[in-house]
Amino acid sequence: MNKRFDSKVVLITGAGSGLGQAAALEIAKEGAKLSLVDLNETALGDTKKLIIEAAPEAEILLLTADVSDEQAVQKYVDDTVQKFGRIDGFYNNAGIEGTQAPTAEYNSKVFDKVIDINLKGVFYGMKYVLPVMKEQQSGAIVNVASVGGIRGVLNQAAYVASKHAVSGMTKNAAIEYGQYNLSINAIAPGAIMTAMVVGSLKQIGGEDGWEEAGKQFVSVNPKKRFGKPEEVGRLVAFLLSGESEFINGVVIPIDGGQSNQY
Ligand code: NAD
Repeated sequence: MNKRFDSKVVLITGAGSGLGQAAALEIAKEGAKLSLVDLNETALGDTKKLIIEAAPEAEILLLTADVSDEQAVQKYVDDTVQKFGRIDGFYNNAGIEGTQAPTAEYNSKVFDKVIDINLKGVFYGMKYVLPVMKEQQSGAIVNVASVGGIRGVLNQAAYVASKHAVSGMTKNAAIEYGQYNLSINAIAPGAIMTAMVVGSLKQIGGEDGWEEAGKQFVSVNPKKRFGKPEEVGRLVAFLLSGESEFINGVVIPIDGGQSNQY
């Protein structure tokens, strides 16, 4: 097996579930040392178990932290550097959807929470990881935007605002730090089947109707299906592997082509 991450250190937030967990698995199989961050300690333990089954040699540091808390972010970065000495790849992934409602009815407290986690969490992550990578004169960052970070989606004012901001912040950081040999990009997943998407479908179709809502949702996707977390994991592995160094400052859709439809 191709081991692109031998002797590399990769830091992943939101690693307890979904896209973070899937990327952790892909990258661990290719030899990385992993620092895994999540709010949910039990979920982090589950991810570690999965990794050990697939890659028994993997070195893993688990860190429970809230990405919307700046001091906690500084600490997860410091703890990673203390344990492993460097950070080669950073998957800045933790995020939440918030509730769904038309803009005029959108709850302001939920708006703040979504911005705190999805936007400020990503900002704090870059703020503390960038100096480490700048000092190394190498490193790659993948921020997680969304199709909602490049176009409107219904009833998600806070989510769409936060993800457009992540897209913009990514382009901005890329032109600031490219000169230090860093590559900073964002991914824009469409609907990938994770706990977050199940929650979203339940907001649309209810406990009994969410699977039907899912079928309707994917009926307009050119691929007629949801994406799989491991498909996103493989894209993230490519972007963090060092194989894609000249890709810098882009927001890459991974959505079966859905964002091209109008
Ligand atoms: P998920 O709910 O399966 O996983 C998110 C993880 O982040 C959970 O383990 C959760 O505990 C953790 N988390 C939440 N808030 C946190 C906080 N404040 N601090 C630390 N950890 C926290 O969701 P997912 O689908 O894997 O989503 C991951 C990222 O991908 C999010 O940023 C999401 O917006 C984005 N995304 C997902 C999809 C999709 O279809 N699944 C599409 C576009 C973008």
